Amino acid sequence: MTPISANLQAVHARIAAAARAAGRDEKDVSLLAVSKTWPAECVRLAAAAGQHAFGENYVQEGVAKVAELESLGLAWHFIGPLQSNKTRPVAESFDWVHSVERMKIAERLSEQRPAGKSPLNVCLQVNVSGEASKSGCAPEEAVALAKAIAALPNLRLRGLMCIPEPAEDVEAQRRPFRQLRELYEQLRAEGLPLDTLSMGMSHDIEAAIAEGATMVRVGTAIFGERSKA
Ligand SMILES: *Cc1c(COP(=O)(O)O)cnc(C)c1O
Repeated sequence: MTPISANLQAVHARIAAAARAAGRDEKDVSLLAVSKTWPAECVRLAAAAGQHAFGENYVQEGVAKVAELESLGLAWHFIGPLQSNKTRPVAESFDWVHSVERMKIAERLSEQRPAGKSPLNVCLQVNVSGEASKSGCAPEEAVALAKAIAALPNLRLRGLMCIPEPAEDVEAQRRPFRQLRELYEQLRAEGLPLDTLSMGMSHDIEAAIAEGATMVRVGTAIFGERSKA
């Protein structure tokens, strides 16, 4: 067994335990393997161990990996900050974008999605309290923005995403996740057919699953520590 396949097993065990503790079915929490900075060979090893969905943060690196590994039939999620002059390669290569935070980006992705492809799956990134970066829309803007994005022709709005500041204790970790889940429930109550709550990373997947995450984005716990750029 390679270290990557052993790590994947350990992450699945954490997901299963967290789901059980929350009275949820582990099948309702999917794992996105975040392969940013890791070479295509690492993705191959994870794919050989059964992992299907991969997340990338940087446009150039991500597009190159998608092309190199096309024959494997994997699902590719763009999860990093996205500038409006970089939307085209993302719309052309990826299956999902988790980091949509303003209308201009959503409009460009919809316009640039190739005609022969299924709609691009997107999540609206929300800057919940304690967000680690400045990215994400304000929670007050989320409802109007989500409705406008859901109306675009070549996108399919799947849900919400957040990246909170790392916190030590589980209660502090859970607070921003709870805020995102409440927003998600509000949007669903208003009729948007959302099914994805993208939250939780290597250090806080338990807290995210306790608050209802349907997709956790895990890099370090699968591939190891990234070298600092
Ligand atoms: C890097 C990254 C992850 C994975 O983080 P780890 O702590 O390595 O698990 C998840 N989501 C986003 C948006 C990231 O940039």
